[in-house]
Amino acid sequence: MRAGIQRGLCESNAVCVALAPDVFDLDEDGIAVTIVDELDEAQVDSVESAIPSCPRAAVFLRKDESDA
Ligand code: SF4
Repeated sequence: MRAGIQRGLCESNAVCVALAPDVFDLDEDGIAVTIVDELDEAQVDSVESAIPSCPRAAVFLRKDESDA
């Protein structure tokens, strides 16, 4: 699995960074970015907690093509 951010929605409050600090960070513009490609199980769990916590619904999980 991979995590992603819909950058146009992000309001830079860093909630996702707090909940999944090894998956997300803020870039120089203050927009959330993913800092890891393939997620391990613990990282998937942390992203799953970040998804409903993002007030802009900007966080998502998607299957890696190689998972198919
Ligand atoms: S929780 Fe949502 S709005 Fe906040 S920094 Fe992360 S992606 Fe952006």
